[in-house]
Amino acid sequence: MYRTHTCGELRISDAGKSLTLAGWVQRIRNFGGMNFIDLRDRYGITQLVFNPQHNKELTEKSAALGREFVIQVKGKCVERSNKNKELPTGDIEILVDELNVLNASLTPPFTIEDETDGGDDLRMKYRYLDLRRKPVRENLLARHQVARAVREYLDGQGFADVETPHLIKSTPEGARDFVVPSRLNPGQFYALPQSPQTFKQLLMVSGFDRYYQIVRCFRDEDLRADRQPEFTQIDCEMAFVEREDVLQMFEGMTKSVFKKVRGLELPAFPRMSYDDAMMNYGNDKPDIRFEMKFVWLKNGDEDVVGGKSFKVFDEAESVIGICTKGCAEYSRKQLDELTEFVKRPQLGMQGLVYIKANADGTFKSSVDKFYSSDDLKKIAEKFSALPGDLILILAGEKARTCKAMSELRLEMGNRLGLRKKDEFKPLWVLDFPLLEWDEEEKRWNAMHHPFTSWRKEDDALLETDPGKVKANAYDMVMNGVELGGGSIRIHNRKNQERMFAALGMSKEQYEYKFGFILNAFEFGTPPHGGIAYGFDRFCSMVTANQEGIRDFIAFPKNNMGRDMMLDAPGDIDEKQKKELGLK
Ligand code: ASP
Repeated sequence: MYRTHTCGELRISDAGKSLTLAGWVQRIRNFGGMNFIDLRDRYGITQLVFNPQHNKELTEKSAALGREFVIQVKGKCVERSNKNKELPTGDIEILVDELNVLNASLTPPFTIEDETDGGDDLRMKYRYLDLRRKPVRENLLARHQVARAVREYLDGQGFADVETPHLIKSTPEGARDFVVPSRLNPGQFYALPQSPQTFKQLLMVSGFDRYYQIVRCFRDEDLRADRQPEFTQIDCEMAFVEREDVLQMFEGMTKSVFKKVRGLELPAFPRMSYDDAMMNYGNDKPDIRFEMKFVWLKNGDEDVVGGKSFKVFDEAESVIGICTKGCAEYSRKQLDELTEFVKRPQLGMQGLVYIKANADGTFKSSVDKFYSSDDLKKIAEKFSALPGDLILILAGEKARTCKAMSELRLEMGNRLGLRKKDEFKPLWVLDFPLLEWDEEEKRWNAMHHPFTSWRKEDDALLETDPGKVKANAYDMVMNGVELGGGSIRIHNRKNQERMFAALGMSKEQYEYKFGFILNAFEFGTPPHGGIAYGFDRFCSMVTANQEGIRDFIAFPKNNMGRDMMLDAPGDIDEKQKKELGLK
């Protein structure tokens, strides 16, 4: 037996036992001739003592050990004189009688402890060493717990786990496909799935009724902190359902996972229309842990700030403000910081206007020149501003201003400590537009994907005023993060063809790309709908980890889509290229 116990389980009640442990040398300390070693494994850390008075030879041998050596020790569990309250095993230590070096180690390139001195690149290159660190390891183990809780819930609801292929033809979800050349079909390519969308719908045609899969998806997009070229979805589909059924089922799943993994009861999920989300938060994934809703001072014909010779407002398409509680005391420097924040190229605002509702009832503003005290008071009333509040206002083109104000709102939420890590505010966002206009391509794109159905009452608009059609689509949003999204699908050939046509596809184009699903729809397709959760994101939310999804992936890629450990992507040899018809 390599070990009788793990490095995480021994307690004071084990004192007196003779036992065997195995693990990695995390740290060696020499103290008055004695050697103390922190022995680590997946379960924790146990202190080993080599005492020359107990065994001189062994103590000398232990001095030759290095960090990350793998060792096995036999000894006796004894009570510690100076206990370590930080460690669950801190009441005991092992007085060692026998030491076997199972394997030596080079000096690790960074410290393998909770805190490390290793930079990102180095830790990515030696990911297997980083994974020995407790915080990194715990994220992956939490991921396992979340997956288990998801499966337990879905299994309990009668969902069947069915695998779908990875070598397929392109499934459009709005991103680029990764492609794989086919050796047996020279000059032809498979695509890796962006999601199993069409397959799960075909499983409904087959009668599977309730399907799920925790499945890898691939999207060749520019990367951001919360994106990876390959990521995992909890992908689900149900037949004979309406929107309400899907929302209930997955509200249930989300609650059940939080309960099982975190012991937390989530509140009921409020519902918000896409239009309301955009008007109140400038964002289709609002963080509703705090209010600070938008106040529109100018929106189309409605204008409460115009006609005062202040050109910026007069010429703007939109003027939007937020009221930040108790910030009237903000200094010049703080206001300058906020101005710089909205002027960053990503947001591209010209400037920031403020109105301070002073504690003494007076108003001070950056546009005093144009607005009298009375004018400012009237504006402040629109915000229900109280003495001590600070109003921040942005002006410009509508979409851009909305986006910038949404970011500024989140920034203020951060500054005021309103975005608490351990508070969870889920909601459903509903009634998305079916289509969005692509200015570059001069055509409509599906906002969700082309298999999403639309509200019955909007049916006639699809050909006449497509921008007005609302989709039967929904997003599950929590703390400003889109955790999941889905829709009730189109389930007949005629409507699916109408949709493809609305997207500007010719009959030949959609027959070539999607003939298989159009055909399937003619063989008795039940009404169906579903949803997919970003699993990596979901894990990061459940554990309230703010670092992003990379921490929840065992072997992630960097911002350039590179695996630093494998040094992939890389070249392939000439013979391989030839075989694949790439030369
Ligand atoms: N396939 C969709 C996605 O990946 C989810 C869905 O509609 O079920 O976002």
